[in-house]
Amino acid sequence: MAQPRFRSAVSPLRRSFTAAATVPAGLPASLPASLPSVEARVADLRPAEPMHCIRPAVLRATARHFVSGFAAALGGDVLYAVKCNPDPAFLRQLWKGGVRHFDCASPAEIRVVRQMFPDAAIHYMHPVKNRAAIRQAYGEYGVRDFSLDCGEELDKLLAETGNAGDLGLFIRLAMPKGTAAMDLSGKFGAERETAAALLRRARGIGARVGLCFHVGSQMLDPAAYERALALAGEVIAAAGVAIDVLDVGGGFPVAYPDMDPPDLSLYFEAIRRGVDRLALPAGTRIWCEPGRALVAAGGSVVVQVERRRGRELFINDGAYGSLSDAGVPGFRFPCRLVRPAGDSAAALTAFSFWGPTCDSADRMQGPFLLPDDIREGDWIEIGQLGAYGATLRTAFNGFDQARLVEVSDGPLLETAGHGIAARLPASAG
Ligand SMILES: *Cc1c(COP(=O)(O)O)cnc(C)c1O
Repeated sequence: MAQPRFRSAVSPLRRSFTAAATVPAGLPASLPASLPSVEARVADLRPAEPMHCIRPAVLRATARHFVSGFAAALGGDVLYAVKCNPDPAFLRQLWKGGVRHFDCASPAEIRVVRQMFPDAAIHYMHPVKNRAAIRQAYGEYGVRDFSLDCGEELDKLLAETGNAGDLGLFIRLAMPKGTAAMDLSGKFGAERETAAALLRRARGIGARVGLCFHVGSQMLDPAAYERALALAGEVIAAAGVAIDVLDVGGGFPVAYPDMDPPDLSLYFEAIRRGVDRLALPAGTRIWCEPGRALVAAGGSVVVQVERRRGRELFINDGAYGSLSDAGVPGFRFPCRLVRPAGDSAAALTAFSFWGPTCDSADRMQGPFLLPDDIREGDWIEIGQLGAYGATLRTAFNGFDQARLVEVSDGPLLETAGHGIAARLPASAG
């Protein structure tokens, strides 16, 4: 975009988009040479509000690499989990990177994807849906695939679609408590026997049926997918019916300063092994639903230091803003000083952050490594925030202004096997 635009915490999902306005036809796949760096943006704008930086080239490269890798390993389809970041600017780059399937969980997510990409394949993979949402998804937006984890939800789907004969029905399996940084077990999923009974019933109703699961977000152990696939195999055997699709969900991790996940290819190999053991009939499709892995590296936020108190920095974004995961979940994000007046030669020191609200819970423990001479007025770029970052912010205490700019930089932190290192210039500074 030519001009940085301001935006408030009002979700992009509440705005309206037309295909013409958001997906200009014939845009070159390569980056315009004129896109500035983060440094240049800061020097130019001296932003007093958080400045969200989108890295279009990183997003496209990451998506291309993931989509082609999953196709090569499994012949499978990649569904982007929209909740991770529904910003149209991000969705547009993923589309350019080859993502054609979208895992949506609400009518608003479905609407933004359908408005931007009339040809997208949209899958409604939330196992508990409002009846009105089902009617809207099926009737207005042409969605056919739905996940469920109980018989009541199947009844609901049938009632609200007029006993449609063209449904894709996906049984969500319960996962044992895993080793993911963010455990998702306990809220959704049918246990083995329930799942088998549901699958049998769905087979008699659906145009296509499948199993799906989520091993937990930021899953650091590729073998978790093999274990989940073994469980899927037990359900298929117990049901005694064939499935059309096996959806291995999200959970693919990215690097953070204290987390160095295995190479992405090892995840695809683990899934390959797990799928091979099931000896599924030829033609069974394999899907996955990455969120974090597709968008984390493509977004960062530049914040300004408002006060220094020893090793504590008061900054203008926080746990109620786009740094939610740095709050209670205690994620450490990669950081760097951005000081247009001249870089610092000081040694790196561990800092903690306070957010801008008056709530003492608005605290980010870190540690965040920054030059020892950091001071009031400096800017800090915080990386790996394209996933579960800006999308989680609130308007609490009036700190809801931010701007979005496109930048040419590479990611602040590279994740093994994500295929971006070789294609981009290293990030400056
Ligand atoms: C959140 C979510 C995802 C994405 O998870 P990541 O850990 O970000 O990859 C995928 N599928 C479902 C059903 C989800 O709820």
